[in-house]
Amino acid sequence: MVPRMATAASTPDRLSSYNPATHDLVGTVPIDGPAEVDAAVARARVAAERWGALSFEARGEELTAFRKALAAHADELADLLHRENGKPELEALVEIMMALGHVQHATACAQAALAPRKVSAGMLANFRATISYHPLGVIGVIGPWNYPLFTPMGSIAYALAAGNAVVWKPSELTPLIAVKIAEIAAGAFALPDLLQVVTGAGATGAALARAAIDKIAFTGSAATGRRVMIAAAERLTPVLLELGGKDPMIVADDADLTKAAEACVFGALTNAGQACISVERVYVAAAVHDRFVDEVVKQVRALKVGGDDGQLGAMTSTSQVAIVKDHLEDAIAKGAKVLTGGPGAISGSYIQPTVLTEVDHRMKVMTDETFGPVIPIKRVGSLDEAVRLANDSRYGLGSAVFAGKGARALAARLRAGMTSINAVMSFAGIPALPFGGVGDSGFGRIHGDEGIREFTRIKSTAEQVLALPVNMMSFRQPKEAPGRLRQMIKQLYGDGVVAKAGDWVRKLRS
Ligand code: NDP
Repeated sequence: MVPRMATAASTPDRLSSYNPATHDLVGTVPIDGPAEVDAAVARARVAAERWGALSFEARGEELTAFRKALAAHADELADLLHRENGKPELEALVEIMMALGHVQHATACAQAALAPRKVSAGMLANFRATISYHPLGVIGVIGPWNYPLFTPMGSIAYALAAGNAVVWKPSELTPLIAVKIAEIAAGAFALPDLLQVVTGAGATGAALARAAIDKIAFTGSAATGRRVMIAAAERLTPVLLELGGKDPMIVADDADLTKAAEACVFGALTNAGQACISVERVYVAAAVHDRFVDEVVKQVRALKVGGDDGQLGAMTSTSQVAIVKDHLEDAIAKGAKVLTGGPGAISGSYIQPTVLTEVDHRMKVMTDETFGPVIPIKRVGSLDEAVRLANDSRYGLGSAVFAGKGARALAARLRAGMTSINAVMSFAGIPALPFGGVGDSGFGRIHGDEGIREFTRIKSTAEQVLALPVNMMSFRQPKEAPGRLRQMIKQLYGDGVVAKAGDWVRKLRS
């Protein structure tokens, strides 16, 4: 196996995880091949049958024990996140808190989200029609390295709460945090093998996508998402894809500029810009552009990169540093102006936050996912232009709008799975809101009731509760049946709609 990144390396049967800031070895994990993956899936199948048969209350108790065990290990988990991913301790603790919020929410809401629903039976009014939700069985979860706990937990917690077992393949850059979570799960759940981790590089993920699982929840790049979908197609395994983004932020001339700048700086630079819902490009009304840029630059200059008290940590992978550098050089070659940072301010795994102006959509920094601490700001002549440019993207994950009275109308015009108004990224912290995108940002939803239902199969049941003298689902029909049907068609669906299906049932019974 060839390591994809400089921070991960391996011997033939072990994968090593390195601290991206210090290059110290954090630990090693096995490289699981198809045989190990298939065995884990088979064990998960046994666990899923027993787990899926439990009541919501019984599952809720165990999920609560799992959440409490995770909370009890918060310091250890934060330390691992810091060492494997490079993020500062504070950001690691925020990630843990958000992940635990989702475990709690999924536990609390599963029963209501999956309660059977009675729906109208329409013209078959002598039927009782219900929709019910049932666990799928075994869910494969493939996660990225940028939020190695929060992001996969957005699938894992909801899949478990819906009654499934999970086999999780973490990124090769951050496997140890996943191994620790599986260890905590093994201690918290009475059933063995409910949450298992398989480790390795892309090939292990590919084996999981091809395994006999019931759904795959993938979070990562659009390129890998396509490969996962192709592999899953072999068994027609359904896929949920949470992919990249190029999230726009719009600042209108009646926005609170100081707050907008503060949110922009955080939204673009938290986790060193390595977030799928990072602010990746900013469109600012011409009237306030210069003041907004001044405020952003002032706030960026006050930040510290690296060290125990730094707000920005090390980039997790050297290949991501190369992508950021390439985007900056491309932008500069095409006329962008560098106000802070720049390609010359990259040192090893550390990138000084970079503010660019005079940017346009010929530049990669405005169209491709940069995934680094870069804030490209574009002046726009009107909000229509801002919306047109914001929507000019193959991605459609998150977005943000800062405006006064027109903010909601502006937000509604953005082609994105999620929009924050007068805030950034806030939708990710509200567990009841479904999370996901459109276009190259993927499809399907994690979080919220939709995120629980993603991990179920829907069953429709039609129960005949009344026998009618005329039964249309029989070959034994009276000879006046065609005449009655003609009349029904006209009355139910034609111009002269006079009756409802229920009235017809009553008429037929009389
Ligand atoms: P990648 O697509 O490179 O990898 C994602 C996962 O897929 C990793 O575990 C990786 O393993 C695995 N993988 C690699 N090749 C294959 C394969 N052929 N079959 C199955 N699995 C495979 O993404 P990154 O880890 O670089 O994550 C960054 C990306 O994730 C960004 O685009 C970001 O926007 C997106 N993201 C999206 C989020 C969302 O919710 N929409 C949230 C967070 C990130 P390995 O690392 O071992 O190669």
